[in-house]
Amino acid sequence: MNKILKAINNELNVSITIIEFTEGLQNIIETQKMNLISSTIFGKFFLNSILINSFNKEEKIDINIQSKTNGSIKEILVNIYDLNKVRGYLREDNTDLKNIKTSVDLFNKTFGNKGELNVFKIKEGNIISNSSIKIDSSNIDKIFMNYLKTSEQVNGILTTCIDIDDSGKLECASGILIHMLPGFSQRDIEYIEEKIGTLENLNKVLGKTKNYNYLVEDIAPNSKILKVDESFKIQCKCSEEKAKRTINLLSDEEISDIKKEKNEIEIICEFCKKSYIVNLV
Ligand SMILES: [Zn+2]
Repeated sequence: MNKILKAINNELNVSITIIEFTEGLQNIIETQKMNLISSTIFGKFFLNSILINSFNKEEKIDINIQSKTNGSIKEILVNIYDLNKVRGYLREDNTDLKNIKTSVDLFNKTFGNKGELNVFKIKEGNIISNSSIKIDSSNIDKIFMNYLKTSEQVNGILTTCIDIDDSGKLECASGILIHMLPGFSQRDIEYIEEKIGTLENLNKVLGKTKNYNYLVEDIAPNSKILKVDESFKIQCKCSEEKAKRTINLLSDEEISDIKKEKNEIEIICEFCKKSYIVNLV
């Protein structure tokens, strides 16, 4: 099930967003043939992308969230469009698993710990804004929290949870963002902090429950559930037309080189892996 729940509590000046995207994410993991660690990293990146997209209210604005880092994963891209459609991919070299002792080492080697996170907002094909922050750790939740603080001026905490069983099947993919609303007081923050304890604790609670209404009520009693949206879905927007246009990016020289061997070229969509055969004559 893919689900986004939004709640607000005016007494405590806090807003809570909880997402579950197990079904959709499983679909991407299979299409992209990701291994266990890549699935975990991509999953966290994907959930964070959807959480930060909740600040996007305009239907005509598409968002591209992209990381470029120094790990074996070179690039992750998540594209959210038409408000409730999403697709994504991960570009990766083989991971050298030598000298890995801790999970932090594993994240540093695969995701990397240096690079850049870019968030592009696109309207009618034109980039209307680009927020960029430096990546200096492999903690994906922390990177996105930093993004919210510096680029969206949002005071909040978030954590995501990816649970994969031994056979590689995704058991649960969920995330929570709790952020303070304008006019919040120190007392509001202290109340929420005391309620959730540490981030690790919040993460554990999130991973264990599917009763998100109860979780909201537990964190901030008397909250109002604004919406439960189950319309979000994985969908690609590639087409034969777009594949043909990709050919225009090749030089005449490159095309005549290909033509020496064959009269057609295969274009594979990076998101959904669909193959398009484009005729060169
Ligand atoms: Zn596609």
